[in-house]
Amino acid sequence: MAVRNRDSVAPAPSSESQMTYSRFLELLPDNDACLEYLKERFFPDGTECPKCGKASKFHRISGRSAYSCQFCGNHVYPTAGTIFHKSTVSLQLWFFAVYLMSSTRCGISAKQLEREIGVTYKTAHRMFKLIRTLLADDDEGQLEGNVVVDESAYGGKPRANESHSQILKRKSYRPTILAMVERGGRVRPLVIPDRGSRSIHMAVKQHVLPSSMLFTDEWDAYKTLARGYRGHRRIKH
Ligand SMILES: [Zn+2]
Repeated sequence: MAVRNRDSVAPAPSSESQMTYSRFLELLPDNDACLEYLKERFFPDGTECPKCGKASKFHRISGRSAYSCQFCGNHVYPTAGTIFHKSTVSLQLWFFAVYLMSSTRCGISAKQLEREIGVTYKTAHRMFKLIRTLLADDDEGQLEGNVVVDESAYGGKPRANESHSQILKRKSYRPTILAMVERGGRVRPLVIPDRGSRSIHMAVKQHVLPSSMLFTDEWDAYKTLARGYRGHRRIKH
């Protein structure tokens, strides 16, 4: 979540406009695409099935917001445990609301949310409160101490047998949720336009103090992240 400047109504600098609406629609065109996004996030191929324990692939059950284990048929729900679960508001509207609230410097009000997504004020207000919690933007200021940085692109983590250029081609230019987590402290999730080093570095610089120790996985974009920080450890998954 961007650090907010509540005194300013000036247009945000270009770096702030992180994803355009048309790009949002292109990448998350409908509810199915949003559900698939969550499925890739929580149940990527190779995830251990909660029931049979095998490294499984989960296939969409048509007409339902569930996926089933390729081995035992166990149903899993990508929205379970999220603010989107069992909501009467469509998943895409939720995603759009998160997009609106996380991609503008000054943020938007519940009233604006009501207008933009076309729900009642009561619903907009409830969504607003939940999304604010999700984005944890009540905590002003940069994160510090030991900070774990982890990104999750639409399409999941790169596979072991993929070459770097294949990964870049297939996955780099997709909207990405970057989570920055203080050990034992605050969490700051952020929607960034892609998982390239430029986008990630910009976000980390903005949200994490230089005196921090960074922890990441071995994704290439993190290679030079240590510059300007106390230290950086890359952990093999
Ligand atoms: Zn199973």
